[in-house]
Amino acid sequence: MEKTNKGSCHCGRVTFGLRAELGAIVECNCSLCSRKGALWHGNDGAHFEILTGKDDLVLYQFGTMTAKHYSCRQCGISTFSRPRIAPTAWVVNVRCLDGVDISSLKTHAFDGQNWEQSAQRFVQSRTQGAV
Ligand SMILES: [Zn+2]
Repeated sequence: MEKTNKGSCHCGRVTFGLRAELGAIVECNCSLCSRKGALWHGNDGAHFEILTGKDDLVLYQFGTMTAKHYSCRQCGISTFSRPRIAPTAWVVNVRCLDGVDISSLKTHAFDGQNWEQSAQRFVQSRTQGAV
């Protein structure tokens, strides 16, 4: 059964829901994610919903300007992004979800410092059903 996880930024202006089984999370070592300390859960967008605070979101882009990284303008917390690997999808920062025991989840490393090679491997493993 998929459960709806609720999440928020620190000040509570931005809230969101993620309907998903939190099977595994992704730790990316790119220049942005490593500084944020964000851990990501990918999902197909249909299960993700911004509940409040759309007007409080700040967009940050860098490099190829493909990914869209959102944070709260008030407290600065990065709640979710549209990743470069799937620009129409959303990934959620698992650290912003309520009541999630991160140590109980399996973590996959994504080598964002070598994005092109990592993305290729990631897409291949998905089509083979490994992820
Ligand atoms: Zn906030």
